[in-house]
Amino acid sequence: MNTVNFIKSLTILDKESQNWNPPVLDLMAAHEETPFKILISTILSARTKDEVTAVASKKLFSKTNTPESLRKLNIKQIEKLIYPVGFFKTKAKHLKETANILVNTYFSQVPNTMEELLTLPGVGRKTANLVLSLAFKIPAICVDIHVFRITNRLNYVNTSSPGKTEIELRTKLPEKYWSMINRVLVAFGQTICRPVSPKCEKCKIQKHCHYYNTIYS
Ligand code: SF4
Repeated sequence: MNTVNFIKSLTILDKESQNWNPPVLDLMAAHEETPFKILISTILSARTKDEVTAVASKKLFSKTNTPESLRKLNIKQIEKLIYPVGFFKTKAKHLKETANILVNTYFSQVPNTMEELLTLPGVGRKTANLVLSLAFKIPAICVDIHVFRITNRLNYVNTSSPGKTEIELRTKLPEKYWSMINRVLVAFGQTICRPVSPKCEKCKIQKHCHYYNTIYS
């Protein structure tokens, strides 16, 4: 698939996405939640379903919504608040360390560069890109499992990992589309283009899809 058709497909899916549940982090950004809350929820969301992330975030933010108050909780208290997100014990440690670093190094603010975000525990490129995009409106491409799978199924990229996908997308796709990719393709991946048994019969971009055309030709 070339860039023109990819952008056409993305635009079609963007319109369609009004019928699907938006990813929980996009919902937070739409409600103009603080960069701190977006960062914390993004850390919680790794390997965790959106519904679970939403409930855990709500519980945690009912007790703490600043780095200063988060660092005052002990690890056991944080674990209890964020359970049952995936890897809750590791994430509780990361959250406490993150709060300390934010207070001690970044004047209690969430930094807004990739380099600085990567100094926070539990923050890799995927999380950092999402925070840059959602909390600071800086063009960034967050490649999670959905973006990786779908861009490869469409044959817009041909990559073996999310990291390589990000690099290829940054090269091929105009910057103005960077931030919408994650919002649109995550909702599409959760609803239609699922990992197993994608609902191709309901898909509005079927005719452009390499995967579909290969299987059904
Ligand atoms: Fe995904 Fe099927 Fe649509 Fe292709 S046709 S994008 S595999 S849902």
